[in-house]
Amino acid sequence: MEKVKIVLKSGKDQSIRRYHPWIYSGAIKKIYGTPAEGDIVEVFDNKGSFLAVGHYQPGSIAVRILSFIEVNPDIGFFRERIEKAIKYRKSLGLTENTQTNVYRLVHAEGDDLPGLIIDFYNGVAVMQMHSVGMYNLRMEFTAILQELLAERLIAVYDKSEGTIPYMSGISARNEFLYGNSGPVIVTENNFRFKIDWVTGQKTGFYIDQRENRRLVMEYTAGKNVLNMFGYTGAFSVYAMKNASLVHTVDSSSSATELANENIRLNYGDDPRHESYQADAFEFLGNIKNKYDLIILDPPAFAKHNNVLSNALQGYKRLNMKAIEQINQGGIIFTFSCSQVVTKENFRKSVFAAAANTGRKVRIVHQVVQPPDHPVNIYHPESEYLKGLVIYVE
Ligand code: SAH
Repeated sequence: MEKVKIVLKSGKDQSIRRYHPWIYSGAIKKIYGTPAEGDIVEVFDNKGSFLAVGHYQPGSIAVRILSFIEVNPDIGFFRERIEKAIKYRKSLGLTENTQTNVYRLVHAEGDDLPGLIIDFYNGVAVMQMHSVGMYNLRMEFTAILQELLAERLIAVYDKSEGTIPYMSGISARNEFLYGNSGPVIVTENNFRFKIDWVTGQKTGFYIDQRENRRLVMEYTAGKNVLNMFGYTGAFSVYAMKNASLVHTVDSSSSATELANENIRLNYGDDPRHESYQADAFEFLGNIKNKYDLIILDPPAFAKHNNVLSNALQGYKRLNMKAIEQINQGGIIFTFSCSQVVTKENFRKSVFAAAANTGRKVRIVHQVVQPPDHPVNIYHPESEYLKGLVIYVE
């Protein structure tokens, strides 16, 4: 079948020549043909030179690029990309690790597979597609995983119902595409967590905080810890290793129940831990002299650029409350997982928060997402998770 051709406006080829994998609809001069959502399209510059091949998607990001050389992205093409993604995790020591059996296997643009996320939970692969092009290939991906992971694979679950854009004619369902499994217990740095991809947020777990949770543990000995936006209580489980007291707060009651369950799984009934269902801003209004270490890991405040300034205000307000009230010599782990909030913008928000309180603040660490969520150097947007560890005098 003849592929649809897309020609870009003059000058709009620049970012593509620097391997940025997205083409915005505004860069397009003309589309030759009528591509359906998810079709493979070829992209050319204004003078007719080939630039890239990718998946078409009506919307702001019109093409997600699969290759900058003229290839046919067939099943062999995707097999090779997934194989490379697995090889990379192997080189990180994640695929045969006795202490950790939960990790991200495919990280979209970071693994040259824009629109595709695959998380691995001790044998269960949970896929989440963000483009129709990738969604249409879900059975092929399942077969590829079966072949490449062999007996290490128990089941493949597709959780794309809420992530496929522009559902024209597509009603994605969350379902098993291979095998079957109820919730599993995974280990992360030897701590145990119950993962339920059906009821859980994202694919079931915030795998991206693994290294930062480990870092938290280095600062919690003998401390009173507040884990704000706790969800599964994962930060709390690490903190409980050596803290005097740990409080987990989340606005959702299913989250606080899950946090309690994960604490029990690791420590039994331990009176050092308590969960509270509460709104962050209200809870933080009344914590003077209570905590020595506070974790702030809120949901993305900005999903789009047009709400960026509100989001930055939100981070400022949140951090101000914590900086104002934390005990002397306290430590705050503060994060942003908004893709549109840059590291610099986030740091400015925390700076503005600190300046408003007048307290002396040192930056102890600047942290990021772990290596199984790699950043494509040509796609700065893939560096979505950023955090600061600050010491408040
Ligand atoms: N720290 C967690 C992930 C947090 S996800 C981990 O390591 O796994 C963000 C959480 O914030 C969600 O569980 C959500 O229920 C909660 N949340 C969202 N808005 C909130 C608010 N205003 N107050 C308290 N919790 C909130």
